[in-house]
Amino acid sequence: MIATWPFGKIANEHAFEKLRAGGSRVDAVESGIREIERRSSDGSVGIEGRPNAAGYPQLDACIMDGPGQRAGSVAGVEGIVHPISAARAVMDHCRHVMLVGEGARWFALEHGVESIDTEPYDALKAKWVAGERSSDIDGRGHDTVALLVLDADGELAGGCSTSGAGGKLPGRVGDSPILGSGLYVDNEVGAAGATGLGENIMRYCGSFLVVEYMRQGMHPQAACEEAVHRIARLDPKGYELSICFIALDKQGRWGAAASNQRFPFAVATAAGNEIVRVPRVQPR
Ligand code: ASP
Repeated sequence: MIATWPFGKIANEHAFEKLRAGGSRVDAVESGIREIERRSSDGSVGIEGRPNAAGYPQLDACIMDGPGQRAGSVAGVEGIVHPISAARAVMDHCRHVMLVGEGARWFALEHGVESIDTEPYDALKAKWVAGERSSDIDGRGHDTVALLVLDADGELAGGCSTSGAGGKLPGRVGDSPILGSGLYVDNEVGAAGATGLGENIMRYCGSFLVVEYMRQGMHPQAACEEAVHRIARLDPKGYELSICFIALDKQGRWGAAASNQRFPFAVATAAGNEIVRVPRVQPR
């Protein structure tokens, strides 16, 4: 398994434990991500994550299972402690794939996902609507936990969860809950996940792109790098994109790449669970 950022090591640990205890690959993904949501690690995932410009968090998450190409996603959900479990409830119990906002919250509550009272958000919303912009809209500070798992049967699953870009406009949805952007799992080929500035990932279907490069025969490392180069070539910002990818293929090979920063992530195999760092890609 492979997971974004140093907190990915904790996600891997919990996912591995779940597998060892007899859980499925989807249980493993959910369990690993729930732990990061629970800790609201470095304030960028979960209910203690980065607030939006109006001062309260809106959370995004999705989950995919390779066999059957099953998926569930929630976006802009408020007061839900484990958005990944809400996404899983959508995957397992809903005829739709993606729910947003109020509807996503309602569905999560119906399926017993832990929640907090969102009433305190009301005053912040009212202020925002009235034009009182007290929060710092800086767009700084954001991270996502994305976790990809290849189980002992050679089947893939993945998930991701985030509070999105700090200071985002209320209603802004990033790449993370968008299948093919923040996450993509293709059980024939491999899986990919993203973190970084969602606006620079979702315009290029970033994770889908990485998976398609693997389909063409690239190693996951080359596929992640190629996706960064392709986006940089097309984008007016060049390599100043703040985007990172992780990938895992059907053979258990993995890779990662980042546009303009050193990118730490965690890789776990039966042999151990390590934080690995890749330097930024060398601009072409
Ligand atoms: N990709 C997330 C978003 O834009 C944030 C991050 O991963 O840093 O919402």
